[in-house]
Amino acid sequence: MKSKDAYNYERDFLCQTYSRPPILFVKGEDCRLWDAEGKSYLDLVGGLAVCSLGHCHHKVIEAIKSQSTSLIHTSNLYYTEPQLELAKKLSELSFGGKTFFCNSGAEANEAAIKLARLYGKGRHTILTAKGSFHGRTLATLSATGQEKIQKGFSPLVSGFKYIEFNSLKSAEDAIDEDTVAIMLEPVQGESGIWQAEREYLLGLRDLCDKYDLLLIFDEVQTGIGRCGYLFAYQFYGIEPDVITLAKGLAGGLPIGAMIAKKGVADLFTPGSHASTFGGNPVSCSASLAVLSVVANEGFLQDVRDTGDYLRKRLKEIPSVKDVRGMGLMIGATIDGDAKKVVADCCQKGLLINAPTPQILRFVPPLIITKEEIDEAISILKEVVSIQVA
Ligand code: PLP
Repeated sequence: MKSKDAYNYERDFLCQTYSRPPILFVKGEDCRLWDAEGKSYLDLVGGLAVCSLGHCHHKVIEAIKSQSTSLIHTSNLYYTEPQLELAKKLSELSFGGKTFFCNSGAEANEAAIKLARLYGKGRHTILTAKGSFHGRTLATLSATGQEKIQKGFSPLVSGFKYIEFNSLKSAEDAIDEDTVAIMLEPVQGESGIWQAEREYLLGLRDLCDKYDLLLIFDEVQTGIGRCGYLFAYQFYGIEPDVITLAKGLAGGLPIGAMIAKKGVADLFTPGSHASTFGGNPVSCSASLAVLSVVANEGFLQDVRDTGDYLRKRLKEIPSVKDVRGMGLMIGATIDGDAKKVVADCCQKGLLINAPTPQILRFVPPLIITKEEIDEAISILKEVVSIQVA
């Protein structure tokens, strides 16, 4: 198959839920992808913050190969070792919580929402932030504070109230006798990389303690080293009651996880929640391989350093107005059409992403080097200077 065939296949055989360029990728290695015609691309999208160790990292390949030759699936009617080992590892690396495994970020958030409802014993309102993104299932798009995501899908799931991000007053004003939790991303990803302030999160922790609310961090995008800490909450020095993970957790294989503090997690009992594929041994083995690399202070320090370097280099580009983010989760507002910049960069062999018409997002593999960043910046500079001229 060639790249030019892709669109016709999609038109005839796929639900057309994505708008994408006519490029068919056939191979990946580290931070590079190759299309069916042999053209190479420097990848600063990283499978949308998923390919934490780049494409086809040898440790991930070894884990997949070795697990898939012994056991691929059993269902959750039985135990498998990789699932148990991964749950133990996540508990040790986080706040000693217990994990429910699923297959995606939306499912991890669904689990958190269900757990919050059990916690509430009748209280059921969850406060979420305007500009947030929590997924595309009915409950998680209802939790998402963006009308464009919800459009056409009414009636929404009830029980969500939207507060201003980074406004403690907005949170406190919204709390009433029905409120059971506050759920938010430490750094909002899909609306353009907006970071929560430390004082805000400390204040939310206090509010949750005062009113007996669960503090749920959606770390689907921010987690697994993306922000230069294994979990973004560790940067802030507070502990949420629940975190949700997906994206980078298994380096490209589907997985989702909801980790809750012990007393809270125990509200789930046999029959209250389930997932056929959740905690699949191949995905869990891949995840253990990812964590064996990412969960090391030296690696995380490198992520912080390369993130600083990418931000510094982006600031050199005249039409880039604002550069922000943590670690390798970076946003830049530009003077110009971000979607066009993305398309032109793609032509020149650089993959970046534009979550909104004026914002560029950079979520490259965490192993990206400074030389690769220099290469990306020189393509970006060229594209942006042509656009602005
Ligand atoms: N939560 C956050 C913060 C996300 O960024 C995303 C996806 O972009 C999701 C949830 C949904 O994850 P998934 O697409 O795996 O369902």
